[in-house]
Amino acid sequence: MKKTTCAACDCELGPETVTVKLGGNAVEVCCEECAKALNEADAATSAALSDKE
Ligand SMILES: [Zn+2]
Repeated sequence: MKKTTCAACDCELGPETVTVKLGGNAVEVCCEECAKALNEADAATSAALSDKE
């Protein structure tokens, strides 16, 4: 059974789930703040990756 938790803070997702698209993946978070945090983390990761190649 798959447990649905926030991809950012790991708490259980409630009725106000926010879906964020990172690259080709859709992840679910509990609120806009977590969505923002994930977007910022993804941007930093993408920047770091493109910097190395
Ligand atoms: Zn969260």
